[in-house]
Amino acid sequence: MDTQTPAEIPMHTEKKTFVRRLAPDRSQRIRLIVQGLFVILNGWLGIQFLLWVRYYERGGQGFSVARPAGADGWLPIAGLMNFKYFLVTGIVPAIHPAAMFLFVAFLLMSLFLKKAFCSWLCPVGTLSEYVWKLGQRIFGRSLRLPRWVDIPLRGLKYLLLSFFVFIIGAMSAEALQDFMHAPYGIIADVKMLNFFRTMGTTAAIVLMLLVFFSLLVKNFWCRYLCPYGALMGLVSLLSPVKIRRDADACIDCGKCARACPANLPVDHLVQVRSVECTGCMECVAVCATQDALQFSLPPRKALAPAERWRGRALSPLAVAAAMACIFFGVILYAKATGHWQTNLPREVYLELVPHANQAGHPGM
Ligand code: SF4
Ligand code: SF4
Repeated sequence: MDTQTPAEIPMHTEKKTFVRRLAPDRSQRIRLIVQGLFVILNGWLGIQFLLWVRYYERGGQGFSVARPAGADGWLPIAGLMNFKYFLVTGIVPAIHPAAMFLFVAFLLMSLFLKKAFCSWLCPVGTLSEYVWKLGQRIFGRSLRLPRWVDIPLRGLKYLLLSFFVFIIGAMSAEALQDFMHAPYGIIADVKMLNFFRTMGTTAAIVLMLLVFFSLLVKNFWCRYLCPYGALMGLVSLLSPVKIRRDADACIDCGKCARACPANLPVDHLVQVRSVECTGCMECVAVCATQDALQFSLPPRKALAPAERWRGRALSPLAVAAAMACIFFGVILYAKATGHWQTNLPREVYLELVPHANQAGHPGM
């Protein structure tokens, strides 16, 4: 998806003048802060959710906290099921509605800001990023797989995504409703927590292998295996905001391509359409040339680069603000319309949570 038409390949016949960028780049500092805040938010939700589960595991004894609906963000499959249910029936599902609203919020981000969800918010993406950066410190470099290995491996995430879309696409609204109202659907979040709390040997080995490969290859999980990222990447093709290079200002130093964690040939593209671009702005951060590279809307028709990008380029603060507006806007809407929480009687959880591991998949 990162090929380009001949018309996009600029011909560099004359030596261009280097104009140093006027303002220092702050994108990576701002992105780090956003990533950190989101990790803290998820940590806080995780602790609150664990306390909630422990309360019900003790039969309703001890310290009681409310179930954090935000923990539904860790149920992307429930999000997809609920979204389909909503599209078919027009009814907001009663079980894990927050999973659907968060799913929609992340889709909207991808629609407007490329796959920025992956590099700015997703805690797994954040973990992946710092694991490969650690790997670079340990081994001195990251491993770049040859194209004949890289391209088929990149297809794996689409296979996984197709599997889920096929299964959920084939389910009727009634089947989706039955699934979500079955004990398995109601406590899918508790089962997810228990998976990590009581991990078996096989799962632990798979996890360790993933960490090992993530040390060697940049964003191993995201690039090859994450079906959520695959979906966000496909939606991001529609994004009007993209990384765009101004061939007149660019001095062809190639720093942007070398910095790109997705290994995209940024220095040879006029705009980065690739599904692998996560809008991380690392390429923009290393570019020292004024107006050469921006995360922006299509340029104006103007002769001077400065004019072309005026009012079109997004600052990192604008990216962070746009993400915050989408994220909090969707949550506020869900809360205001009374569709954020799963409202089930306490007795249901008292019965189901302590026996979560016994709740079998409804289809099995
Ligand atoms: S970093 Fe990339 S966009 Fe910036 S001047 Fe160098 S080649 Fe051009
Ligand atoms: S470095 Fe630039 S081109 Fe590469 S993934 Fe990040 S934003 Fe996209």
